[in-house]
Amino acid sequence: MDRRIITIDGPAGAGKTTVSKALARELGCVYVDTGALYRAVAFEIKRRQINWEDSALLEQFLACLDLDFVMEGREPVLTSSGRDISAYIRTNEISMLASATSAVPQVRKALLGIQRSIAGERDAVFEGRDMGTAVFPNASYKFFLTADVKVRARRRFEESNASGISFEKILEDMAKRDRDDTQRAVSPLKQAPDAILIDATELDVSQVVEKMKSIIIVT
Ligand code: C5P
Repeated sequence: MDRRIITIDGPAGAGKTTVSKALARELGCVYVDTGALYRAVAFEIKRRQINWEDSALLEQFLACLDLDFVMEGREPVLTSSGRDISAYIRTNEISMLASATSAVPQVRKALLGIQRSIAGERDAVFEGRDMGTAVFPNASYKFFLTADVKVRARRRFEESNASGISFEKILEDMAKRDRDDTQRAVSPLKQAPDAILIDATELDVSQVVEKMKSIIIVT
């Protein structure tokens, strides 16, 4: 039987991560967060103070980048030069830098191969922005998960209440990321023509997962 790939694309804060993890658990397959790769690139750019707008310097940086996913059970853990960097890539600053640098075609090209090879031959749920459109155009099932921007920002605010960032700032940054991610020239965030749209504005995680499961033929 062919490998089964399920893609979940959509804007920030729509609940992709929680839903993807829960769905992967229920289906017994691997879960892959591709946003973590773009965050890792941003983290290393910041740490090494790379002038990423200089394409020769960016090329050099990308050629030396050593990102990998190490499987821990069904969840791949992201490493950079062998170090687990997952604790450093979730800040608001890295979110914004990841969104800016992900618009650069060289960055997207550098990450394409790793995304396609991460899960080997295993069945997997991939979450991101261009999984169903660019990375896995032939995926078995494609979903586009969205929700009202205020609801998404409210969820992020509640998750990050220890960070001291105001709701207004989170909302403003999220709207900017939505705009930048949907308007970039290469692999913009958009619903694949054959993806199923789920609006989670008034749905909780388990309702979204149930909806997806009712569509996926469990074999
Ligand atoms: O999903 P997450 O919010 O962690 O992604 C961070 C940023 O990485 C996004 O705002 C987007 O610009 C970029 N990204 C992307 N393509 C993906 C996943 C993430 O461009 N497949």
